[in-house]
Amino acid sequence: KAFEALGICTQLAESAAGLGWKEPSEIQTQAVPLVLKGQDVIGLAQTGSGKTGAFALPILQQLLDTPQPFFALVLSPTRELAIQISEQFEALGAGIGVRAAVLVGGIDMMAQAIALARRPHVVVGTPGRVVDHLTNTKGFSLRALKHLVLDEADRLLNMDFEQEIDTILKAIPRLFSATMTSKVAKLQRACLRNPVKVEV
Ligand code: AMP
Repeated sequence: KAFEALGICTQLAESAAGLGWKEPSEIQTQAVPLVLKGQDVIGLAQTGSGKTGAFALPILQQLLDTPQPFFALVLSPTRELAIQISEQFEALGAGIGVRAAVLVGGIDMMAQAIALARRPHVVVGTPGRVVDHLTNTKGFSLRALKHLVLDEADRLLNMDFEQEIDTILKAIPRLFSATMTSKVAKLQRACLRNPVKVEV
C-alpha cells in the first residue's frame, strides 16, 4: 500500500521515497490515517519500526495544508533521540520548507533561542530544556500548538520528568485546559491501563 493511500500527498511520498521508504511500515499504515483524522494515538512499536515517520508524515501533511509556526512539539527523553527525530522531520519536510528546532541540554541556549526566533513549525526537545525556553525565551509559545508527541511516553511520564511535563502541558491551552496535575496522572493511567493503542 502506498503512502498516498494513507492520505499523504505525492510530494511528501516522494520525499519518503528519497529516503528509501518504498512503502509505509506497519505502524505508519495504522497510525497515519488516525493522526490525520485528529485522533489521539498511543503507538507501541519497536525502535526501527518507523514510528517517527508514523507521526512526522501526518504532521507534515497537515502543515502543508495549514502552514503555521509552533505547530507541533515532540518531547523525547534523550538528546540523541530528539536530534534523530528532528533530522527525520527535516529530511521529509525539506521540499516543503519546513523548519524544525531542537531544544536539548548541553547546547548553548542562545543558539536555540535564535532558532526559535525563526518561528519553526516543529520543535523537538527534551523536557528540561523545553521548559527552560518556555520560561526564558520571548516569542516561544505553545498557545497555537496542534500536535503534542510524547516519544517514548513511558519514559517521559515517569517521575523523573513529571514536573517538566506538567509545566509544558500548562502552556498548551487547546490541548489541556483542565487541572494539569491530574492530566498527567490521566495520561499516565491511559498509557498503563486503558490505552487507545496501535500496536505492531
Ligand atoms: P524509527 O523506528 O522511527 O526510529 O525508524 C527507524 C529507521 O527506519 C529509520 O532509519 C527510518 O529512516 C527508517 N524508516 C522509517 N519508515 C520507513 C519505511 N516506510 N520504509 C523503510 N524505512 C523506513
